[in-house]
Amino acid sequence: MTGDKENSEWGIETLAIHAGQEPDLQTGAVTVPVYQTSTYEQDAVGQDRGYEYSRTGNPTRDALEKSISALEGGTSGKAFASGMAAEDTILRLLNPGDHIVMGNDAYGGTFRLISKVLTRFNIGWSAVDLSNPKAIESAITDKTKLLWTETPSNPLLSIVDIEMLASLAHDHGAWCVVDNTFATPYLQQPLSLGADFVVHSTTKYLGGHSDVVGGFIAMNSADLNEEIGFLQNAIGAVPAPWDCYLLLRGIKTLPVRMDRHCENAEKITQFLKVHEKVEEVLYPGLETHPTHLIAEKQMRKYGGMVSFTVKGGQEAAQEIVKRTKVFTLAESLGAVESLIEVPAAMTHLSAEGSPLEVDGSLIRLSVGIEAIDDLLNDLGQALKG
Ligand SMILES: *Cc1c(COP(=O)(O)O)cnc(C)c1O
Repeated sequence: MTGDKENSEWGIETLAIHAGQEPDLQTGAVTVPVYQTSTYEQDAVGQDRGYEYSRTGNPTRDALEKSISALEGGTSGKAFASGMAAEDTILRLLNPGDHIVMGNDAYGGTFRLISKVLTRFNIGWSAVDLSNPKAIESAITDKTKLLWTETPSNPLLSIVDIEMLASLAHDHGAWCVVDNTFATPYLQQPLSLGADFVVHSTTKYLGGHSDVVGGFIAMNSADLNEEIGFLQNAIGAVPAPWDCYLLLRGIKTLPVRMDRHCENAEKITQFLKVHEKVEEVLYPGLETHPTHLIAEKQMRKYGGMVSFTVKGGQEAAQEIVKRTKVFTLAESLGAVESLIEVPAAMTHLSAEGSPLEVDGSLIRLSVGIEAIDDLLNDLGQALKG
């Protein structure tokens, strides 16, 4: 097979395997080689073969950048050493005096970066309910440069209307950033709904195997890509070639993994919904979910994350998560194995006392791709106690 493999007509399952991952031109190797090199021979001063130094460019990283951009339906993208490094790079587009509007249930790390680091550079922020256009409008000032959302959000799994948010941003001369970590491009493509930047923690579903930390920014604009590329090289928070390879490997199975994550999550919500120890199940696929209709409009399926509150408060929640055997008690999410955690005491501990504080009786599941009966039995015995 030869020729351009980023055919925009291809389905996402095909792109996941082929976009950016064409056989190596020199050897025909079917898998993108790991170019574990920091520097490159130059033929003469100022005459290189497309690469000069691996902070600036590396062929394995280039392949990853083509792959994820194609999946997001973007024209370009840049890879980073972590999701936070990707977020930080977008935030460096701002100047002192600028202002950010974000969701009041933003990822804890995003909230920390904006509220504890960016404020040192005199960048202001407001955290509001992004499902409420009036609340967004009243938070926007003439200094607002970014509207930042995550949808589904973490850990409450609320859905923000991306089209609405992007058009509000553009009405006010701001950019719309969507953290697409929970949905992945298989379930939702924010650029096609008007977002200017899609940001990822590739640590999660894109990697999919709990063995790599990484981040990504996808874009649809050559100008923004140039600015982000300049910052990527200037700041230098780039991923190592080996990590790019692990991501390329994980991405090939993203669509099949996501199908199983979603299928298992749906069955688990049905089980939890009628369980006597469970108070409320939060899952955008449930018709009772407050923003289900928006999820239905902008997502293919509803994802592998499920949150629920239990009777008996934080104490009961902490006992339950100790008892699971197939679900591993751990932070992070999005990999093949199922994880369980108590956000108020773990991932969202730093949000205590802030607008992002979460209920102590909330349990968050990252539903893996194990046999559904084993997952249901495990939750059943853990809830029974
Ligand atoms: C994990 C995560 C991040 C941060 O990514 P890292 O790879 O851990 O730096 C950002 N946003 C969301 C939604 C996440 O889940």
